[in-house]
Amino acid sequence: MDASETVPGRGPAFAGPGTWLKGNLHCHTTESDGALSPSDAAAGYAALGHDFLALTDHDRITDPQAVDAHGLILVPSVELTAADGELGTEFHLLGIGIAPGITLPPPSTSGAVSSAWLRAHGAATFVAHPHWSGLTTADVLALQIDGLEVMNTGTVLDSLKGDGSAMWDEGLLRGRTWSAIATDDTHWHTIERGRGWTMIHAEARTPEAIVAALRAGRFYASTGPEIHDAWVEVSADGRTLHVHVRTSPVAAIYVSGPGTNSGMAYHPDATQLATVPTGTMPPMITAHDFTIDLGRTARRPFAGQGSGRRHVRVACMDWMQRRAWTNPILF
Ligand SMILES: [Zn+2]
Ligand SMILES: [Zn+2]
Repeated sequence: MDASETVPGRGPAFAGPGTWLKGNLHCHTTESDGALSPSDAAAGYAALGHDFLALTDHDRITDPQAVDAHGLILVPSVELTAADGELGTEFHLLGIGIAPGITLPPPSTSGAVSSAWLRAHGAATFVAHPHWSGLTTADVLALQIDGLEVMNTGTVLDSLKGDGSAMWDEGLLRGRTWSAIATDDTHWHTIERGRGWTMIHAEARTPEAIVAALRAGRFYASTGPEIHDAWVEVSADGRTLHVHVRTSPVAAIYVSGPGTNSGMAYHPDATQLATVPTGTMPPMITAHDFTIDLGRTARRPFAGQGSGRRHVRVACMDWMQRRAWTNPILF
């Protein structure tokens, strides 16, 4: 960094004090269409070393008070069905942090109304598996949400329709500030356990602190790698963006937005990558500092329906193609 760099912006997950908590925000039990009881589901995630779990049964709130938490922080939650997708499809809305016992809107309620209802009742609200649901981007733009599932393990396994990244990027380019979670969508029917999780930087080990951190974007999503830090600086003349990333060992680090793909970094020794013996893990990186010419992207439109600010988001991938994603960093 040089003295001309004057506008620092740290990814919200990586700023301020707190404790890192790992957990799954999408899980079913025998209270809806899952195969394990709520207490056995908690035992399963405790065995994986998770810190928290959201039991998101369909259209009902499984009360954590009635569950043996096995040491986990249980966040009262729901997966709420809603209606009126443009193509005749339904929404599945995750409401994380909702009072047990409250009467939920019926599934015939529109997605726009039900998502606004969840947020008005204090829940961090995410649209689940938009591709699997057959939702259009217009459908999701009409919602009141904190973000979406960038990766949903259950729908990856059952249909290869668990990736939300294209819709996420379109929303960001249209001015939304959506964050993204990775989840298991566990039904206990297959191997959808411990494959997608969210790392939350919470101020305390409580359900309330987890929900507050989710609302504030203080988290990142992962299916394997760790992201230790990500921050940006704009040069004083406004022409150059520096993006700094620190991770666990990964194959590649990516920056996307503003505009088209903005940068990617593999191990700098291409010869070394090209001559890796079969059966040997190629070399990895744990950091990269990108320099992006904003002059080249300045004419890209930013609709400004949300923040009106530009953003970048950072992702990384290991050699097993497991990934991690930061939330958008605004600048
Ligand atoms: Zn669902
Ligand atoms: Zn589900």
